[in-house]
Amino acid sequence: MPVRHALVTGANRGLGLEFVRQLLTAGDHVVAACRQPGRATALNTLAGEHPGRLHVLPLDLANPKSHAELARELPLVLGDDGRLGLLVNNAGVLHSGERFGTLSPAILDDSFRTNAAGPLLLTQALAPLLADEARVINLSSQLGSIASTTRFGTPSYNISKAAQNMATVLLARALAERGIVVFAASPGWARTDMGGEGAELEPAEAVAGILRVAGGLAASDSGRFLDWKGDPLPW
Ligand code: NDP
Repeated sequence: MPVRHALVTGANRGLGLEFVRQLLTAGDHVVAACRQPGRATALNTLAGEHPGRLHVLPLDLANPKSHAELARELPLVLGDDGRLGLLVNNAGVLHSGERFGTLSPAILDDSFRTNAAGPLLLTQALAPLLADEARVINLSSQLGSIASTTRFGTPSYNISKAAQNMATVLLARALAERGIVVFAASPGWARTDMGGEGAELEPAEAVAGILRVAGGLAASDSGRFLDWKGDPLPW
């Protein structure tokens, strides 16, 4: 079987780095995208340990010009006929400490660009490089579920993840004719810089769960909102 090409955004730390580790272990060729490849020590160490199987490329998800540059560079590492079998839209941002009365337009804007517009526009830019029947995983959050909202929370995060959920459904529709499965995945509460020390899950458990779920989906599952165990979440 040909080696699958996978691309992970926000790959330098947290869940993104764990996706890279597990995909390498599974035998994939991995393109790890992050803002500052020169500073991505863990990724560069992994690249040394897996010669030719891990390429680290720059990506600022909040900047669409950076999406276009990544799309231009990808064929150099995939080969002219290479196509991505998996795209993990993992990068995300949570600006904590917001209060009603002092909400900041700049924080809302950055969150929207990164969490909602980012995965949508990057997937659009990379669509010609996606293989038919590829999987696209958009890292969402239960905090983006309108139906589950019980408190004020972190509006910039909640609103941008809710918008990302709509983007996931629209991408699923747009890519359906090529058999590409796009879904929103909640990783649960995982121990990363974003999740914090007190979180319930190790990144390894959350990521293994999401990859298992992705591997088991049929074309008819495209556009669903699922947690790391594969259970459906309300929008
Ligand atoms: P971290 O904060 O630990 O890591 C976030 C990653 O996203 C970093 O690699 C960061 O890069 C990258 N990133 C942020 N902004 C940009 C940008 N503009 N361009 C490129 N990369 C960017 O988060 P997690 O690993 O915990 O989260 C991963 C995903 O899972 C996110 O989408 C998050 O919303 C989601 N999630 C996480 C939960 C958890 O409990 N951990 C719960 C629910 C959802 P840099 O190092 O350059 O800042």
